[in-house]
Amino acid sequence: MNQVGTWSAGAVASAGGRPELTIDLDSVAGNWRLLRARHDGAMAAVVKADAYGLGAAAVVPVLYAAGARFFFVAYAHEGALVRAHAPDAAIALLNGFDTFESETCLACDLWPVLGSLPEIAAWRALARRQGRALPALLHVDTGMNRLGLAPADVETLAGDPALLAGIDVRCVMTHLAHAEQPSHPANPRQLARFRAALAHMPAAMPSIAASAALFLPAEYRVGLARPGAALYGINPVPGRPNPLRPTVRLTACVAQLRDVPAGETVGYNGIWTARRPSRIATVRFGYADGYHRAAGNRGAAFFDGARLPLIGRVSMDLTTFDATDRPDVRLGDRIELIGPAVPPDEVAAWAGTNAYEVLTALGARPVRQYRPL
Ligand SMILES: *Cc1c(COP(=O)(O)O)cnc(C)c1O
Repeated sequence: MNQVGTWSAGAVASAGGRPELTIDLDSVAGNWRLLRARHDGAMAAVVKADAYGLGAAAVVPVLYAAGARFFFVAYAHEGALVRAHAPDAAIALLNGFDTFESETCLACDLWPVLGSLPEIAAWRALARRQGRALPALLHVDTGMNRLGLAPADVETLAGDPALLAGIDVRCVMTHLAHAEQPSHPANPRQLARFRAALAHMPAAMPSIAASAALFLPAEYRVGLARPGAALYGINPVPGRPNPLRPTVRLTACVAQLRDVPAGETVGYNGIWTARRPSRIATVRFGYADGYHRAAGNRGAAFFDGARLPLIGRVSMDLTTFDATDRPDVRLGDRIELIGPAVPPDEVAAWAGTNAYEVLTALGARPVRQYRPL
């Protein structure tokens, strides 16, 4: 039933009573253009994790049509999917290089982001066996302490250029740990360390900025920008109005309406008690659909101009809402659990997570529909 790859409003299959994830590809393209206007240099699109749950097979062609010619994914199998929709684009692998991905890298012309001396050695060996130079990116760690070359590795490389023999370095990148906190002292510290490292690296396009850093001062917006989240409408400037367009709406159906007397509890562990005679809307959407269980008793959904409080625990396939003040809610009605009226960033706050996890969690079960919101 999924309409992956198609997206005319007329050709939409019905989700029946199942949860439905509507994805607005025009808004994704609009967000690309908005970010593009903020950055003079090259810009890549990060489409890892199936384009943050929106569906890479649908998102990549739209970004390609908008002008994207550089894509980042995490794994080679994700890169292979991107390659099918972007024949002449650069495609880089953020998770680095593992030899089990060699064949896919070669077959699909994927460029790993090399972040350690063993990875560099493995890619160099592959290039030697192929008898030609192979493109790659280098990742310098400047304070994230997750992936990337340590200062000692940078020194080792600088002291022995043969270590990069056969590696065609297209870009040298780093990643900021605090980009969404503009005045955090780690930002200038990481920038200074990056500049120091660049002096010892092969001349190549630098890259620092993911979504949030595109909203930092100009010195962070050098070379290749590589936003992901902001393309999908996640707010890159927390605490300030979101400059981007919403791209998704998740709706689910009311499976049952029931009246409970004051004093009754609802759901597992009885964590919510009716203080008054209450009308409970049980909705077909739960944590197996990607709704976060931690939002129990804290969240809300949107129905026709107003919010319904989320009450009780989120179950695997069902969630309960207080519809006492909305007698117009009917059996089978669709309510919005995530979308323009209930932004992913807000849902994330209820669940103690970020909007990235809210979106990537939606990948599996809801029926995806590609049409305007
Ligand atoms: C995921 C990722 C990005 C994209 O980050 P957003 O915050 O989604 O824009 C950029 N660079 C690296 C190294 C990443 O892992």
